[in-house]
Formats: sequence, C-alpha cells, structure tokens
Amino acid sequence: MAVSIKSPREIALMRESCKRLEYVHDKLGEALKPGMSTLEVDRLGEKLIREMDGIPNFLHYNGFPASICVSVNEEVVHGIPKKDRILKEGDIVSLDAGLIYKGYHSDAARTYMIGKVKPEVKDLVERTKQSFFEGIKMAREGNHLYDISNAIADYIEGFGYGIVEDLVGHGIGTKLHEDPQIPNFRQKKKGLMLKAGMTLAIEPMINLGTWEVEWLEDDWTVVTADGLPSAHYENTILITEDEPEILTLSR
Ligand code: MG
Repeated sequence: MAVSIKSPREIALMRESCKRLEYVHDKLGEALKPGMSTLEVDRLGEKLIREMDGIPNFLHYNGFPASICVSVNEEVVHGIPKKDRILKEGDIVSLDAGLIYKGYHSDAARTYMIGKVKPEVKDLVERTKQSFFEGIKMAREGNHLYDISNAIADYIEGFGYGIVEDLVGHGIGTKLHEDPQIPNFRQKKKGLMLKAGMTLAIEPMINLGTWEVEWLEDDWTVVTADGLPSAHYENTILITEDEPEILTLSR
C-alpha cells in the first residue's frame, strides 16, 4: 500500500482546495431550509464550487450524476439530488461535497438538522460529529492508522449505534480516493504507521439502529437496512509532527 506523503508545495495546495470547500459547505449550510429540493442543494453547491475556481470532483465520478451527495434521513451517503425530494422540518440531511483546485482534491461532509428534529436524532448527529474529533485525537505521527478507527468505535459503541462498515474513509490528494482505507469500526490489527505529510479524509457514518446498509435500485444511494436515520461527518486532515491540522475546518 503506497500512501503518498505530500511535499510542502502540495500541502499548500491542499490547504487552498480545502479552504474553498469549507466556504462551500458554510454557504450550503446557511441556505438549507424546509421546502428546498435536494436538487436545489446540488445546483447551489456546484455554483459555489465553480465560483471558488474549483471543479466538482464528485460529478461524473464513476458515473455519479451530481456535484453534491445529498442524503436525507435513512440515506447514509451518496444520495442523488432530485427535484421532487423536498426537505422538511424534522429531517436530517447529510451533504458530502468535494472539489479539485489546481489538481488537489478536498472532501468533507456535514449532517444538518432541518428545523426541530427528534432528540434521539439530534444526539445521533452531534455524536457522529464528536466521533470524528475523538478519532483525530489519535491522528498523530508515530501512531497507527487503526488507532483512529478504534477511537471512533470506542466512543460510538457506548451509545449502541450502528457503525457503517461497507464504506470507509480514505487518503486524498491528487486523487479523490487514495490509499489507505480508514475504517470507522473496531480493528484487530494496528494498520500502517502515520507520518507527517499524509492527508486523510476521515468520515464516520453512524446509524441510529443497525450497522447494516443496503443499496437502492439506482446503485448509488446507500440506506440503512432498518430505515432508521444515519449521520455523516467528514473532514480532510493533515498529519503533522504535532497536532493534526483539519484542512476543511479552520474555525
Ligand atoms: Mg470522503
């Protein structure tokens, strides 16, 4: 497994790409409201990406038909935006977006609550986000890759949630998906040793009920097997000689 170590020049470009994506996410988050279609979310996202001189990296990736993955409630990831899927009060919606800037990819996801959602769903969204932060505490040079996976699992398992196993985080750089794969569930092995200059997309996908997922007929949309909600949170990060740097979250 060849994991790329980015040069200072490449790290600077990754930062630029990720900063632009952070802006896109911030603007999308502000725009979400009941009555908005998931297609409108995608159209706005693509416009914002292009305004930031980025190229949407999800568009046409293995045939994906949109720039933003918009996954509502029981949809885990890879929801295809549609004009007749309308966001309503009480929904949660996961937006996964990425862009290419000067040849370098960024990737991040957020789950938003539309208006007031059920308390157990709000907890799921907040704990999914927190699990990312638990994971990156271990994202330090000299630690092992699966220290991150196990830290996420340690935090999540206590709540009895299902951790998605079919989809995982990944390395990122001149390609959207690079080595290594980064599971969010418990690992028995240690995995590779982390080194400064690795850039990783860490992205826990956590289900309120079962960990099991299914694919819809469109062969893209991943849904929970029991129909209960799922949340997703992702940032592109940089391993350094000290604290990890969250490239898609500067505040
Ligand atoms: Mg990703």
